[in-house]
Amino acid sequence: MLRTAAKVNLTLEVLGKRADGYHEIATVMQAVDLSDRITLDDADDLELRSTSVEVPTDGRNLALRAAAALREAAGLGQGVRIGLDKRIPVAAGLGGGSADAAAVLLGLNRLWSLRWPLERLDDVAASLGSDVPFFLRGGAALATGRGEKVEPLQGRSLALVLVNPRFPASTAEMYGRLTPAMYSDGTATRALARSLRRGPARVAASLYNGMEAVASGVFPQIPRMRAALLAAGALGALMSGSGPTVFGVARSHEQARQIRARVARGSWECWAVRTLTGPAVRLVANGARRG
Ligand code: ATP
Repeated sequence: MLRTAAKVNLTLEVLGKRADGYHEIATVMQAVDLSDRITLDDADDLELRSTSVEVPTDGRNLALRAAAALREAAGLGQGVRIGLDKRIPVAAGLGGGSADAAAVLLGLNRLWSLRWPLERLDDVAASLGSDVPFFLRGGAALATGRGEKVEPLQGRSLALVLVNPRFPASTAEMYGRLTPAMYSDGTATRALARSLRRGPARVAASLYNGMEAVASGVFPQIPRMRAALLAAGALGALMSGSGPTVFGVARSHEQARQIRARVARGSWECWAVRTLTGPAVRLVANGARRG
């Protein structure tokens, strides 16, 4: 079985809009130990079964699209049965679909004995979505372009609290609401990348998301979740990606658990998580617990 981790964006800066319609961004992406579980079994066709009713199980599912894209790129004819145990909230700004796609690429690279290096999987990954190349590696990374150009960053493990308001946000809609006044120049992202080795207080002081204001206008829960995290003792708090999940930075995992207990309420789902300094996709024995 594969475990594939979610991400948060410690910064997200929109630098401008490109001629091809995509936005140019600069972001520090960070894998966190909240993970979907994926199994891959030999089959004649491409099939997917999911524990979640919120994700499509047909050709729109990013995990299934990853299998189809790799099969095509490798010129193979076999299928695979994908089992998806969805634990990362959907359309949450945590990159769950991209994480699943990366796990399928890495898992099938083994199952189908392709032995492709990561650089070769990158092209297939980027064709599926801008965040997928990040999840092939994990840890922390500076991502630029559409988010598909990834440079690994060295950092220390951090304790975070994630708060999700149990409703989805559309990434496309949030980008559509951006105006040039919300663009920035990448300074915040470079500063965060430097502070990553310097511990939670420095990271908390450098958090920045250029989409948070627009998302907060649509979803007033976002500033409320952020305020609740800060009131409970978080060193800093920020919306992840295009939202609506908000995360807080804690001094320690123990403090993250205390903050989680204070912030959790019926309509908000909360997790105390650690950031991962290693791979986002890990092969684990069936039945392994945690995360
Ligand atoms: P992004 O910022 O990349 O949009 P996100 O975390 O906000 O990421 P996802 O959870 O990846 O959002 O889901 C975005 C959309 O993709 C949803 O509308 C969902 O139905 C669809 N989707 C397709 N496959 C998957 C999958 N395997 N897991 C989650 N969502 C999927």
